[in-house]
Amino acid sequence: MKVQSWIQRRPTRQIKVGNVLIGGDAPISVQSMTNTETTEVEATVKQIQQLANAGADIVRVSVPTMDAAEAFKLIRQQSPVPLVADIHFDYRIALKVADYGVDCLRINPGNIGKEERIRAVVEAARDRGIPIRIGVNAGSLEKELQEKYGEPTPEALVESAFRHIDILDRLNFHDFKVSVKASNVYMAVHAYRLLSKQIDNPLHLGITEAGGFRSGSVKSAIGLGMLLAEGIGDTIRVSLAADPVEEVKVGWDILKSLNLRTRGVNIIACPTCSRAEFDVIATVNELERRLEDVRLPLDVSVIGCVVNGPGEASESDVGLTGGFSGSMLYNDGEKQEKIPNDQILERLEKAVRLKVAEREQL
Ligand code: SF4
Repeated sequence: MKVQSWIQRRPTRQIKVGNVLIGGDAPISVQSMTNTETTEVEATVKQIQQLANAGADIVRVSVPTMDAAEAFKLIRQQSPVPLVADIHFDYRIALKVADYGVDCLRINPGNIGKEERIRAVVEAARDRGIPIRIGVNAGSLEKELQEKYGEPTPEALVESAFRHIDILDRLNFHDFKVSVKASNVYMAVHAYRLLSKQIDNPLHLGITEAGGFRSGSVKSAIGLGMLLAEGIGDTIRVSLAADPVEEVKVGWDILKSLNLRTRGVNIIACPTCSRAEFDVIATVNELERRLEDVRLPLDVSVIGCVVNGPGEASESDVGLTGGFSGSMLYNDGEKQEKIPNDQILERLEKAVRLKVAEREQL
């Protein structure tokens, strides 16, 4: 049985980042960001490739200098996915990458400076069909707003976003998405809720500087999960102080948990107890590693004993229930054959790959 998502997504206008649609009825895209030196072209392209392999739809790259802009030109020529150039303050870098080719500019118009500079960037983006992401962050809130509100608040984040949104509106530029990130889950969630009531542009969700792998993943899952469950959010980035490949995997796990997107093998496994008839934990960890290349969505249950095994297997594409004298392999919910317990890993992998090949031929 496939459980559908009951989430009603908030209607948003659609924008296009390279060949990836964001907003409207487009799938919620997963983003990450490189952490290599952008001027090291080979290392950056390699990391983008790894992120794309893990399922990143879009990758952001920092472009802090003119040298980085030159490197960005070469990186984009080799990138398998659309790239967002992350630029702060320097409008000349924005013009340079717009000229060289970029799929989205992450730049806050209110921080560019004089009106003619803002106009130059917006016109360059308009002429080339490049969307903009306005990215507000509680850690870099404008001084006046810090003073007005006393500290970063959801209202302050939204007011900051409107400083930039109003500039783009005045210039009749509507091809943009917005983020209002904070490291505090409640602050970010409330800011996105407030903003979603006031604009119909796509929203890029993130809990910024969420922390290390474990705590950052939990914070992101809670924050993004609350918003996504309310239908808010068109593209996501999980920010971890960890390998960015993990950000992509966690992002996908969040979307998969809410049935908002499917990709690859979804393993259903029991936590094990003294009834377990084989080493479920080691089997699951190794199976997940071996099946990372599978893109087709498949449910695979790996359960230690008959208490929950048959029930889970009956709902899975491939299932396994541990038994004392051998474990039962299931195919499409039906018992297939009893296999020796020392062959579980190999036989499960084979069964999954066979199922993938069958489905891909349909
Ligand atoms: Fe224990 Fe069996 Fe439950 Fe797994 S399914 S936790 S082995 S009782």
